Amino acid sequence: MKKILITGAAGFLGSHLSDRFINEGFKVIGMDNFITGDIKNIAHLLEHPNFHFIEHDVTEFVKIDGELDYILHFASPASPIDYLKIPIQTLKVGSLGTHNLLGLAKAKQARILIASTSEVYGDPLVHPQTEDYYGNVNTIGPRGVYDEAKRFQESITMAYHRFHGLETRIVRIFNTYGPRMRLNDGRVIPAFMGQALRGEDLTVFGDGLQTRSFCYVDDQVEGIFRLLFSDYSYPVNIGNPHEITIKDFAEEIIKLTGTNQKLVYKDLPVDDPMQRQPDISLAKKLLDWEPKTHRAEGMKITFNYFKGLSKEELYKSEH
Ligand code: NAD
Ligand code: UDP
Repeated sequence: MKKILITGAAGFLGSHLSDRFINEGFKVIGMDNFITGDIKNIAHLLEHPNFHFIEHDVTEFVKIDGELDYILHFASPASPIDYLKIPIQTLKVGSLGTHNLLGLAKAKQARILIASTSEVYGDPLVHPQTEDYYGNVNTIGPRGVYDEAKRFQESITMAYHRFHGLETRIVRIFNTYGPRMRLNDGRVIPAFMGQALRGEDLTVFGDGLQTRSFCYVDDQVEGIFRLLFSDYSYPVNIGNPHEITIKDFAEEIIKLTGTNQKLVYKDLPVDDPMQRQPDISLAKKLLDWEPKTHRAEGMKITFNYFKGLSKEELYKSEH
C-alpha cells in the first residue's frame, strides 16, 4: 500500500485530495495546524483505518515515521483576506514549510507535488496565462506575501529537482470552488453565497469588470491526481478557462440563489488582478485533462452545501 502525506489536509483542497487518495487505496497521512482549516472537513476520515492525522505546523521540522512514497504540499492560507491577516505565516509556510517538506521528500526518496497558484502571474499582462509567462507581481504590495512565497516555493522546488534529482511536480491552481470552502474566508463565491443566504446585498469590488475563471473542485483534484503520476517536472496550469466578469458572476449567483438582493459596489482591493484565465493546452496535451463540470452544475452543488450550514455558522463573523 502506497503512503502519501497531504499537508493542509483540513483545508478545502487538502480534504478533497485526502478523500480521493483514500478512495484510490492509499494510506493517507493528513497534516494541518488549523490556521485556516477546520477539523470538520476531515471528521469523516478520522476513524478510517487508512487515514492518520497529525496536528503540526509545517514551518517547524516535519517528522514522519517509516516509508513515504508521495507528498502533496497544500498547506498555506489561500484567500486574500486570510493571507493579509497572517502575512508572516503565509511567507513562512511557502518558504520554510516548503523547505521542510522538500527535505523530507529527499530523506524518504518520495515524489513531491507542491500547490502553486495563478497568483504567480500577478496582475497578468498576457492573456490567457500560459506557463511560460513570467508574471507581473508587485513584490511589496499587500498580496506580495502570498505571491512571492509561492514564487519562491516554485524556485526552491526546481532547485531540489535539479540539484538533488528529487522527483517534483508543480501545479499552478486557478480559482477553485466547491463544498468545504469556509463561508467567511472572504473569497468571492462563499462571500456572495453567504450574503445571498443572509439576505444581504452582494458586495462587488471595483466596477466588477475584473474577470476570473472558476474550476469545480472535482475537476481540480482530477488534474492534480494526473499530474502527480505524470513524469513532468515543470509547472502546469490546472483551472477552468471559462472566464466571467465578477459583476456578471454576481448576477448569476442572484439568479441561482433566488435572492431579492442587489449589487453594492465597494473599493477594489490593492493589486486585485484585472483578468485571469488559464491556458490549459499543456494540461490537455500532457495529462489528457480538461474540466468536465459546467459552472451552473458546480455552483448548484456548492450552494446546496452552504444552504446546509447551521444558522450559527452562517452568522459567524471572522473579519
Ligand atoms: P484552505 O485555507 O482551505 O486550506 C489550507 C490549509 O493549510 C488549512 O487547513 C490550514 O490550516 C493549513 N495550513 C496553513 N498553514 C499551515 C502550516 N504552517 N502548517 C500546517 N498547516 C497549515 O485553502 P485551500 O483553498 O484548500 O488551498 C490549499 C492550497 O492550494 C494552498 O497552498 C493554496 O495556495 C493553493 N491554491 C488554492 C486555490 C483555490 O482556489 N482554492 C488557488 C490557488 C492555489
Ligand atoms: N470580490 C468581490 N466581492 C467580494 C469578494 C471578492 O467583488 O465580496 C472580487 C475580488 O475583488 C476579485 C474576485 O472577486 O476581483 C475574486 O476574489 P477572490 O478573493 O475569490 O480571489 P482572487 O482571485 O482575487 O485571489
